Amino acid sequence: MPAAAAARPFRMGPARSPRSPAWWSPGPSAGILWRMPRFPGAVPSRLPNVGTTIFTVMSRLAAETGAINLSQGFPEFSAPPLLYDLVAKHMRAGSNQYAPMAGTVALREAIARKVEALYGTRYDPEHEITVTAGGTQAIFTAITALVRPGDEVILFEPAYDSYAPSVVLAGATAVRARLAFPAYRPDWDEVRRLVSPRTRLIVTNTPHNPSGTIWSEADLGRLEALVEGTEIVVLSDEVYEHMVFDGRRHESCARRPALAARSVVVSSFGKTYHVTGWKVGYVLAPRELTLEFRRVHQFVVFTVNTPVQLALAEYLSDASLHLGLAAFYERKRDLFRAGLAQTRLSLLPCEGTYFQLASYAGLTEERDDVLAERLTREGGVASIPVSAFYAQPPHDPVLRFCFAKNDDTLARACERLARARW
Ligand code: GLN
Repeated sequence: MPAAAAARPFRMGPARSPRSPAWWSPGPSAGILWRMPRFPGAVPSRLPNVGTTIFTVMSRLAAETGAINLSQGFPEFSAPPLLYDLVAKHMRAGSNQYAPMAGTVALREAIARKVEALYGTRYDPEHEITVTAGGTQAIFTAITALVRPGDEVILFEPAYDSYAPSVVLAGATAVRARLAFPAYRPDWDEVRRLVSPRTRLIVTNTPHNPSGTIWSEADLGRLEALVEGTEIVVLSDEVYEHMVFDGRRHESCARRPALAARSVVVSSFGKTYHVTGWKVGYVLAPRELTLEFRRVHQFVVFTVNTPVQLALAEYLSDASLHLGLAAFYERKRDLFRAGLAQTRLSLLPCEGTYFQLASYAGLTEERDDVLAERLTREGGVASIPVSAFYAQPPHDPVLRFCFAKNDDTLARACERLARARW
């Protein structure tokens, strides 16, 4: 701002004059000289088919109606106080200015050590790890950086709701492979048929939101074979990587050299450490992909907040925190499933994530979005209709419940669902 403008005293606006434009109107109280005028033109939407995300809609409805909120995925509980103390320590010590664009060195080094211990692959913190403002930003940035107008991007539906809009904003086309109700398993022959010379990216997600399924080693083998000899990039959303149950292991693209070489792997500290509101995650990718990712990243967020990164770098060194997460959520899953078994809902398997799908086939003919709203208002429990994860929803009779909640919250929700009118 020029110095002269900065020095000029702030004025609320002109008094009404014969030349005042049509939008001018006196404000409701003294001191306000105008209401905010309307934008004087058309605003063609870049995302005309998109409303407010279902997570916001259902959480808002739950708050309005006082329902137990098992809709949007976020933990009800806090992280251990140590994590907050570490953030405060770094803030007080003066680490409050911009971090390096790719993330603090300490955090990237801690991530490299963690990933190496988990998946046996050494990512170079300098060139292959980038700290992001959460998983959703990482996904948007990766798609924006790597997908060109006219390209095709293969998604597996039901798909997390940010994927397709990111593809549309990149000027590309989303091509949908089905994970069919109720098993939600990939059909690799179908995926093979969907691959075309225009396919630039395949977006994968294991453990899978919303279905709670996980991919096996064989699935990753099929994926690897499918992309071999192509220039297709895999965008692997692994934000629930530490929530895999029943002694099974998470199949990361980072485990397999041939896939790691073409994958952008997305992870989330919010999910792992019960701090979804902090919006911090990271991506792992070979340096050629990281270079392009960072070209965009620097202009989207530039850099992620410093004291939280420094705190996480220290916190991460205790592997028991992420290694213990599976047992922590497995117990909650079992508790929640035992409670839901007392209702008339039928449970689908839950192999990972903190989401449980429940089928209401045979109970009511209502569409899932209609039922989710009614159950929130009348039954006092908010859930997510799985149709929100589709472009053309099949409206399978299934709802998603988040069990990252205190035990008594889960118990009360199950009691309410047992009393629900179908
Ligand atoms: N990932 C969370 C879920 O699926 C929600 C994130 C969000 O609200 N955008 O519920």
